[in-house]
Amino acid sequence: MAAVPWRRENYQAGAVIFREGDAGRDAYLIESGRVNITRADGNGQESLVRALDAGEIFGEIALVDNLPRTASAVAAETTTLIAINSQLFFDKLKHSDPLLAHLLGLVVSRFRASNTGSGHADEAVVAHLSALHDYAVRNIRASQDMSEAIERGEFLVYYQPVVHLADGSLAGFEALVRWRRQDGGLVNPAEFIALAENTGLILPLGRWTLGEALRGQQLLQQAMDRYHPGRAALFMSVNLSARQLLDADELETVMAVIRDSGVNPQQVKLEITESMMMDNVDLAIEAMHRLKRQGMLLAIDDFGTGYSSLSYLERMPLDNLKIDQSFVRAMRTKANGHRIARAIAALAHELGMDSIAEGVEEVADEAALKQLGCKYGQGYLYARPLSQADALDYIAQRGSER
Ligand code: C2E
Ligand code: CA
Ligand code: CA
Repeated sequence: MAAVPWRRENYQAGAVIFREGDAGRDAYLIESGRVNITRADGNGQESLVRALDAGEIFGEIALVDNLPRTASAVAAETTTLIAINSQLFFDKLKHSDPLLAHLLGLVVSRFRASNTGSGHADEAVVAHLSALHDYAVRNIRASQDMSEAIERGEFLVYYQPVVHLADGSLAGFEALVRWRRQDGGLVNPAEFIALAENTGLILPLGRWTLGEALRGQQLLQQAMDRYHPGRAALFMSVNLSARQLLDADELETVMAVIRDSGVNPQQVKLEITESMMMDNVDLAIEAMHRLKRQGMLLAIDDFGTGYSSLSYLERMPLDNLKIDQSFVRAMRTKANGHRIARAIAALAHELGMDSIAEGVEEVADEAALKQLGCKYGQGYLYARPLSQADALDYIAQRGSER
């Protein structure tokens, strides 16, 4: 269960928000009103340290180190605060760049020590942060390992077929990156994509994957032309990280890689995960329009698992909406699953997009999705993600009618 991200709290003039020595939990943003930060002097008298106005944040240090408050906070007038949940903050910290998280911890511990004038707090803080430290060190090692693996060429691209639900014919492939360690073991992206995202390694990895997937598109297209002449051209779907989308220079690089590949941009579909662009929707929409002007196709991935509002969705120049596999599974197993899948398919249609269902595993899924007017299907029913050689075989083996 995710922590509530924030909540509002109201205080009358003179009300205590927290006292010196209290267990530190949340930080606060002053929405309206005024807050006095006070500290007790030697003989128990409270003296004003700072007066804070609307828009200011306080209590943030305890958020990082979880130690008792070193000052008190009192509402100076009727005040509304937005509490920033410490659990949420800690989760965010854990998912951020580990080096950054660790340095933040160190800075805070030094600040505490200099503020209290005792070496005592410093030790306690370091003890508390040692878990974070271990985590940081593990992650720094893992990202080092991964960047060397990129240089050693341990990554490869697998291809999963996407079919037209209407007649089962092959429409295209989704490129899915894999890591083959030197001992031959394959690592799934679920295990390293998050690390790559946090450390920025997703940029070199994403660049490489895109180039490789486009070379794959040309090979697979050649096989298609040879075994099934006259069929419509195949598209190649490539997953784009929010970092690749939101960084202007990286977006240029993405467009240059596509341009230089010689693949018709109309055959290139970029999949963008719904939840990943929500931090900066306006920029994401602008970047999507830039890609669209180059002729690429755009799909929103894992739809329904993020928080995109319908008004955003309408502003995005999307060609496809990918119905997340959790909905396809729910359709199979839950009473109301079908209604939800139907609503998503209708929404896509209403917004002028074609939908692609992920995780199609059973014949019954296919039939139900077809009935909902879903255009494409992808999943184990058709094929697992295939190595390039297996994908070429897959095309060669398909019946001539397809
Ligand atoms: P995704 O884009 O949602 O990819 C679909 C995932 O569902 C793939 O997992 C695929 O193997 C799996 N899948 C396909 N059909 C079925 C099915 O019928 N049943 C079930 N249960 N699963 C199915 P995979 O390859 O492990 O990829 C995981 C995620 O990693 C991807 O999710 C995508 O978000 C990310 N990813 C993969 N390659 C790249 C990449 O090159 N760049 C970026 N940025 N992300 C990538
Ligand atoms: Ca995808
Ligand atoms: Ca997906």
